[in-house]
Amino acid sequence: MANKNHVVVIGAGPGGYAAAFRAADLGNKVTLIEKDETLGGVCLNRGCIPSKTLLHLSKTIDDVESVKKAGIEFLEPKIDMKKIQVWKNRVIKKLGGGIKLLAKKRNVNISHGEASFISDKSIKIINKDKEEIINFDQCIIATGSRPNSLPFLEIDHDQILDSTSVLSLNKIPKDMLVIGGGYIGLEMATVYSSFGAEVSVVEFLPKLLAGADEDLVNILNKKLKGKLNEIMVDTKVLGSKKVKGGIEVEMESKTGILSKIYEKILVSVGRIPNTDNISLGNTGVNVDKKGFIHVDEYRRTNIHGIYAIGDVTGDPMLAHKATHEGKIAAEVCTGIPSAFEPQAIPAVIFTDPEIAWAGKTENELIESNTPYEKAEFPWQASGKAISIDRTEGKTKILFEPKSKRVIGVGIAGVNAGDLIGEAALSIEMGCYAEDIALTIHPHPTLTENFSNTAEVMEKTITDLYLK
Ligand code: NAD
Repeated sequence: MANKNHVVVIGAGPGGYAAAFRAADLGNKVTLIEKDETLGGVCLNRGCIPSKTLLHLSKTIDDVESVKKAGIEFLEPKIDMKKIQVWKNRVIKKLGGGIKLLAKKRNVNISHGEASFISDKSIKIINKDKEEIINFDQCIIATGSRPNSLPFLEIDHDQILDSTSVLSLNKIPKDMLVIGGGYIGLEMATVYSSFGAEVSVVEFLPKLLAGADEDLVNILNKKLKGKLNEIMVDTKVLGSKKVKGGIEVEMESKTGILSKIYEKILVSVGRIPNTDNISLGNTGVNVDKKGFIHVDEYRRTNIHGIYAIGDVTGDPMLAHKATHEGKIAAEVCTGIPSAFEPQAIPAVIFTDPEIAWAGKTENELIESNTPYEKAEFPWQASGKAISIDRTEGKTKILFEPKSKRVIGVGIAGVNAGDLIGEAALSIEMGCYAEDIALTIHPHPTLTENFSNTAEVMEKTITDLYLK
């Protein structure tokens, strides 16, 4: 099985380094090209990991506040953003060092510099004044994505921030407008409102988190309404100008035009693929109108020997999807008959409460006229949720009507992101309601809510009274 193909991977994010490591473990000669000085890509350096580090700190503040009513009171928190930055950077450095070590152990050759294709068999790497040309047998494109921008709001990383600069503030702003009520916007609104800033969110569509089921989003919405200054949906940002005291933003809602001044603006309006900066034109690899690369289930592009994985291949733009794809591409490069065919890709929004789903959403089933049955378990009936005072959540499972096979799961509630792992497994394994209901879950934990939901479908639930 092992051969000495030269596999070149462009981009050392969670997709790229997984691809490189798997390819090396399978006996290939591997070169991993990365333009940044550190490995780990957006996820580690300016995405998932730093944002989750900040979210952990902001949740700690909220948790401390919430135990007041139970009889434990602390002094007001003192937040030192400079120290928080040092802490956050330490987390990044630790993980980055781990990736470097793993690459070294596998003899993966790391080449730092900007890669661009010369042909469908060779790449040029430019690092400052040095230029190197390498040939490959197989290449895996894993160059990821970057924040989308708005033409009238140029990111200056001072007053107007993107998803990178918002993670590196040394001072908590008095107020902030988040443009875009998606993953990034709501996670950052959660962080900075808990840190004490007055945060408002403006969303162009009629609801937040358009891809998620409304019943789950409603649970988050209730919490956000008490936490955020303003949530403006169905509202379009028209323009902005710098004025004394901040940025004046002009917006248009159903009720008319309004303009407000904010100290900081976060622009989080989606991401665009990094496919316009690698001279793809020299290869013949096809991209769509938005710049995404079309791949088949083996992650092959239209050009023999060139593969693409992760954000460059389109939605969902999630690190765990990229990692899985990276391993598939590395295996296919080596002649192993693997394919990317997941039954469920979990999605998590790390707000508080978290929202997570796997498999089909209810929205998707309704839109595609797919028949389904649904069981729900309200967390008001969960012993663990009551003991930690987090009963606002709910778990729902969507089943194929006749067989009662699980086809989708949605959770809103604290730790939904951790709980969704079991749901994804149940879909991958083709579980039926009975499998989950008959699996003994530990008490008292939030994991019980999953088997309780299946018991609702099975009509064997004793923790609720159903007529
Ligand atoms: P998103 O697609 O989640 O949300 C962007 C939102 O901005 C949408 O709701 C859109 O309607 C809105 N919007 C667009 N233009 C607007 C305008 N002019 N005015 C007001 N609203 C506007 O994008 P994101 O939050 O930037 O995140 C990008 C990607 O990064 C996501 O698709 C996600 O895959 C990934 N991500 C994932 C996580 C996670 O897994 N927890 C966290 C962060 C980012």
